[in-house]
Amino acid sequence: MSGIAYGVIHRRGKSRAFESLAVGVTFSIMAIFAMLNPLVLSEGIILDPRAVIVGLASAFGGFPAAIVSTLFVGLFRLYVGGVGAIAGATGIAASAALGLVWRRYLYGRNSTTKLHLIGLGALLSLHTLTLFLLPMQVAIELFATIVPVLTVSCVLGSLVMGSIIDRERHYIRTENYWRKTAGTDSLTGLANRRSFLDSIQERSPIRNGVVMIIDIDHFKKVNDTFGHDAGDMVLKRVADVLRKTSTADELVCRLGGEEFAVFSSNMYHVTPFSRAEAYRAGIERQLVRYGNETIPITASIGVSYWKNTVVADISSRLREADIGLYDAKAAGRNRVTVSSNNDEDGERPLVF
Ligand code: GH3
Ligand code: MG
Ligand code: MG
Repeated sequence: MSGIAYGVIHRRGKSRAFESLAVGVTFSIMAIFAMLNPLVLSEGIILDPRAVIVGLASAFGGFPAAIVSTLFVGLFRLYVGGVGAIAGATGIAASAALGLVWRRYLYGRNSTTKLHLIGLGALLSLHTLTLFLLPMQVAIELFATIVPVLTVSCVLGSLVMGSIIDRERHYIRTENYWRKTAGTDSLTGLANRRSFLDSIQERSPIRNGVVMIIDIDHFKKVNDTFGHDAGDMVLKRVADVLRKTSTADELVCRLGGEEFAVFSSNMYHVTPFSRAEAYRAGIERQLVRYGNETIPITASIGVSYWKNTVVADISSRLREADIGLYDAKAAGRNRVTVSSNNDEDGERPLVF
């Protein structure tokens, strides 16, 4: 149950703080449910796994989860009342705090071993010391009978529920890794063509947009002169320039080979030409050293943009940018060509 809840929350892809709060709320509900359905071991010995659940919430969910579960479960314990209300609520707060201690000092970064979890259980069992908030006579009596059982249940509970949560965590990490790898170009670390097109598709229909294709000039010559490894290095350096030059609302990708693309749907402050020019100049300025040599690099850029026109299919705009690129190559390379014939100003293909 805890593992399923953890998995569902962490697959939603929201922010960390949200995830932590959600873990806190869900685990609190589970803890309260557990308190409503305690296990009666024998006359007077009633067991429920609230300490383990609250402890796991803060151990795996972090600080926000700890606060939320302490408040919810602690207040519920106070609401239930009785002679043990204060001790019970304090025990809940202690479990949350002990979970945080474990998270801070014993949390397995990559994998949580069984030993880590047994350690968590042992640490959580310290919450039973709050029994001493009861009248001394009662405390001593309870301590002898309940504590051994609670300690064992804390250790077993942490081991079982913690393993499930940890396995879930492992699956999520693997899943995220593959999702990311599938959309990333392995050489440059940029988005690949597929994830680039998917990201644009998610934003469509797009009323205002610009797409540019950036193609390295005479790249074959780099490979022929300096070798394939040097060529790869140039591709990485160019990718770095593109990353550095791009603004937060520009998507950058490697389309394939020595071709890259940039897309933006925010063109309020700059002209498409000046953005493309910033990329072109950045590439020209970038010096790539290979051994004792410096490889000069330039690129040609074809640009397509549209204003106040709803564009549903980006591929026609990529084709248009490609025509611009062809013109830029023909006009001598290391330049930007804007080819847009459907803009509100009625501009025809422009060669700068
Ligand atoms: P132009 O100025 O007209 O663009 O000429 P170009 O030489 O850049 O273009 P062309 O398409 O003739 O050559 C592209 C070369 O890019 C051919 C191919 O071997 C090389 N290439 C494609 N992918 C990679 C890669 O991942 N690494 C390396 N090193 N070379 C690659
Ligand atoms: Mg090419
Ligand atoms: Mg080229």
